[in-house]
Amino acid sequence: MTLNIILLGPPGAGKGTQASRLEDECGMIQLSTGDMLRAAVKADTPIGVQAKAVMDAGELVSDEIVSGLIGERLDALGGTTSVIFDGYPRTAAQADALDGILAARGRKLDHVIELVVEEDALVDRITGRFSCAKCGEGYHDRYKLPKVADVCDVCGSTEFKRRPDDNEETVRTRMAEYRAKTAPILPIYEARGIVSQVDGMAPIDQVNGAIESILDSSAG
Ligand code: ADP
Ligand code: ADP
Ligand code: ZN
Repeated sequence: MTLNIILLGPPGAGKGTQASRLEDECGMIQLSTGDMLRAAVKADTPIGVQAKAVMDAGELVSDEIVSGLIGERLDALGGTTSVIFDGYPRTAAQADALDGILAARGRKLDHVIELVVEEDALVDRITGRFSCAKCGEGYHDRYKLPKVADVCDVCGSTEFKRRPDDNEETVRTRMAEYRAKTAPILPIYEARGIVSQVDGMAPIDQVNGAIESILDSSAG
C-alpha cells in the first residue's frame, strides 16, 4: 500500500529525525524541502541563490519555489513509493498546491502527524543539532550523540556540520513563522479527519513507535 504522510511541527520538533527512521524501517522516502533548498544553495543553482538570504534570516522561501521542488521530486519517484513530507507544506497556499500535486499523480494524503512539543525545548534542540557531513545522519549534543565519540553511527565518517541558521536569533524568527503561517493549516486537515497528534517531547524511540502505530492502523 502506498502511503502519503505529512510530518508537521515547529523547527526542532523532530520531523527530520522521525522521517529518517521511517525511511530505514518502513521503506518510505523523505521529501524535505529544507534539504532540497540546502542542496540548491550548495550547488549555487538559481533557486539556491534566491533562497539563501531568506533561509539565513529564518523566513519562508516562496510557495512557488518549494511546491515546484516537491512536484519535481515526486515525479522522479515511482508512483507506488510511499512518501513523507517533512517541512512542507508550511503555508495555506502550499497546502492547497499539495492537494493538486498529489491529485495529478493519483496520490492522496493519508495522515498528517503533528509532533506536539513545548516551545521552550526547541531552542535547546536546535542549537545542539548537528549532522554527519557525509551521509546527513542527524545528531544532538546531548540527546543523540554518536555511539562512538566523533564517529558517525551510519557511515563511519568523522566529519560533522552545523546549519548556519541554527542559532538562537534565527530560531526565534522561524518559530514565529511557524506560529503565523504553518500552524493555521492544521484546521484544513483536521476538517478532513486525517490529523493525529504525537507527543514530540517523548524520547526519539517512543515518538517513532507512536508514529508507526498510526501508520499500522491504516495498513489493513
Ligand atoms: P527545520 O527542520 O528546522 O524546520 P527546514 O530544514 O525544514 O527547517 O527549513 C530550513 C529553512 O528552509 C526554513 O527556515 C525556510 O527558510 C526554508 N524552507 C524549508 N521548507 C520550506 C517551505 N516548505 N516553505 C518555505 N520555506 C521553506
Ligand atoms: P526538525 O526536522 O523538526 O527541525 P530534527 O529532527 O532535526 O527536527 O531534531 C532537532 C534536534 O533535536 C536534533 O538534534 C535531534 O537529534 C534532536 N531530537 C529529535 N527528536 C528528539 C526527541 N524526541 N528528544 C530529544 N531530542 C530530539
Ligand atoms: Zn554518516
